[in-house]
Amino acid sequence: MAPHPTSENELLEPHSRAVRLLIVDDDQTYLALCMRYLAKDSHYTYDMVAASGVDEALTACATTPFDCLLIDYALPEGTGTDLVGTLRERLSSALPPVVVISADGGADAAVDALRMHAADFLTKREVSANALRRSIGNAVVKGRLQRVVKLRQRELELANVELERRAIEIQRFYHTVSHEMKTPLTAAREFIAIVADGLTGTINDEQRELLEHALNCCDQITTQFNDMIDLTRLETGKMRLDRAPTAFEKIADRSLAMCASAAEAKSLVLESAISANLPLLDIDAGRITQVLSNLLGNAIKFTPPEGRVRLEATVADNEDGVDVRVIDSGCGIGPKDCEHIFDRLYQVRIAADESESSGLGLGLSIAREIVHGHGGELAVASRVGAGSTFSFRLPTADATTSIACQEPL
Ligand code: ADP
Repeated sequence: MAPHPTSENELLEPHSRAVRLLIVDDDQTYLALCMRYLAKDSHYTYDMVAASGVDEALTACATTPFDCLLIDYALPEGTGTDLVGTLRERLSSALPPVVVISADGGADAAVDALRMHAADFLTKREVSANALRRSIGNAVVKGRLQRVVKLRQRELELANVELERRAIEIQRFYHTVSHEMKTPLTAAREFIAIVADGLTGTINDEQRELLEHALNCCDQITTQFNDMIDLTRLETGKMRLDRAPTAFEKIADRSLAMCASAAEAKSLVLESAISANLPLLDIDAGRITQVLSNLLGNAIKFTPPEGRVRLEATVADNEDGVDVRVIDSGCGIGPKDCEHIFDRLYQVRIAADESESSGLGLGLSIAREIVHGHGGELAVASRVGAGSTFSFRLPTADATTSIACQEPL
């Protein structure tokens, strides 16, 4: 038997005064008494159906969506709680709230009723008209509210599924567009480079400057496309880390060299303090270089001319890895922004020079995921006007080979 249908309007009216009640009792006198008590209820108007046993109750529940069931514990065919068990099997979550009533209120009956999650348990000998009305009224409101909550929960689940579907669609779109556009962009960059190198004829200084500007723009767009592709890979679990024992000095030198000209252009002091004899690290050298380049690049971007940017690496206090810090004397980040700084697409828009703020706000979220893939956390400590420190821990080669590549990241 399928659960009885319940209209949405009913579900949305938890305080409706009309109540459909099924009373299951083979004692006709008591049944009539209950009906009389409830007919005089000043708050609810009852539409009551009587059933003298299990079969009649099952038939009634199959056709009518009751708001509440009042069930006698001692029925001719078994206990009232047996009936509740059968109804629960048939109606599952559409089972209305149940109030169990017993002649003498014995402990067994009370325990049985509790076990069956009855909304209330009453004793015929003691129950008054008011107590009966109150008990059924409470059960009805509770049952209706529970149904509203279930309906909302179902709606939220469906909305969530739809959101996830759309998110995947957007990620695929990002990925396809980035890939498709990178190919012609690479070709355009090559053609510009050929002209800039004078291979097609002599060019003057002004033309060279313009072509160099065009090359920079191509590089910037390529970086942004790569960020979008990386983020899609991270979010779809398709980025794998290629970890191998690596000397930190090697990737630090490479990252510092990549940033040197940008620092020089702003007259920044770019310094490094890497402890001697660091242990080998179990890392993906390419991805950690990407993290360092992003952090150093940001530090340079958000530090005014004549400032300082410093890369530090020391053995962790408990010797469980190497602690890396990128420190700058730049504009700093406020506490509210610090909370969101690693969110996708988040930008504070306080670059020392607005023209430099050319990223998409993806760099830090990618960096955080990469560090996370190595078992660490990327953290920031900053104060507006006093500079920022980004820090994370990298695993040493011997201790962590077992964490292995975090597949997929
Ligand atoms: P973007 O590519 O836009 O720089 P990121 O994710 O790398 O994206 O950084 C997000 C934002 O965090 C930046 O737009 C900037 O506002 C802020 N930020 C990052 N690093 C620093 C820093 N060292 N000093 C001040 N602000 C920073």
